[in-house]
Amino acid sequence: MPARILDGRKTGSEVRLELLPRIARLRAAKHPPALAVVLVGDDPASAIYVRNKEKACEELGIRSEKLTPPASITTGELLDVVQTLNRRPDIDGILVQMPLPRHVDAGQVLLAIAPEKDVDGFHPCNTGLLVANQPGPRPCTPAGVIELLRRDGIPMAGQEAVIIGRSDIVGKPQAMLLLHEHATVTICHSRTSNLPEVCRRASILVAAIGRPGFVTEEFIQPGATVIDVGINQVTNADLAERLLAHDAARLENFRRTGRATVGDVHPGDAARLAGAYTPVPGGVGPLTIAMLMVNTVAAAERRAGV
Ligand code: NDP
Repeated sequence: MPARILDGRKTGSEVRLELLPRIARLRAAKHPPALAVVLVGDDPASAIYVRNKEKACEELGIRSEKLTPPASITTGELLDVVQTLNRRPDIDGILVQMPLPRHVDAGQVLLAIAPEKDVDGFHPCNTGLLVANQPGPRPCTPAGVIELLRRDGIPMAGQEAVIIGRSDIVGKPQAMLLLHEHATVTICHSRTSNLPEVCRRASILVAAIGRPGFVTEEFIQPGATVIDVGINQVTNADLAERLLAHDAARLENFRRTGRATVGDVHPGDAARLAGAYTPVPGGVGPLTIAMLMVNTVAAAERRAGV
């Protein structure tokens, strides 16, 4: 049986549309939700991510405000920007787009965001709520993965879940969220021994590594659900030919443009072996933005007492 594609665009759109009545209630309570996005410098990839977040806000009627300090901003100056947003009653959510320039202390900046306005869910207070399974904003990407699994009817309780990657923004919170769904969770990283063997145990395999097409057939248990969090730009022709060999249209597009966006999983191997898998693009990415909208609306509701 061919692998089922978990359509993140469709599910992300469902999640966003379900927010409309909640946004209407906030407006009726004279508390229209608002998100402030701080985009430091002129990194083109970050600018695209921020643009997509602004677009999602526009579509839902969430007010968004973009602040664009120059790359030369100091840690102290950026902390002042965050403190000002913390104090503003008309701002519900604050997002500082990562990565920040090297000379800025990102940890200090994230710590400065008021936990109740931390819509990325990265503040240590919110990490604590996540670990304790108490209500609070969850990091958007792993929360989006759970939403996708749940809505697509993929069982999690009692399943073996293996996550490749232990970052604070994806791997670790993903493990905690799957644990709360009663999966048996293994976290792998660059020092894990026998990685393919460990991954083959998984009925849910999550790849969050940042290496194009790293997860190949020897990592995938036939019939497993494979979630590909990675977003990688490929310009190397040999790699593109290897990863896109099964997809004539995408290969043709690569030959024309010289670039392709691929995940951490070999897409042909996932399509051949998995029971269900997320494509890149169009899998986890749209859910990340949808969950940012959920966190923003929830922050506004908490602040408005709605
Ligand atoms: P990080 O670089 O912070 O973490 C990568 C993890 O992968 C690390 O834990 C690292 O292990 C592990 N790793 C690296 N190489 C190997 C290897 N050879 N074998 C096993 N593990 C390895 O990345 P992020 O978590 O921030 O992001 C991961 C990917 O997800 C990226 O492609 C990123 O672009 C994408 N992403 C996508 C989002 C979306 O919306 N879809 C949102 C956020 C990220 P170690 O800790 O030992 O170094």
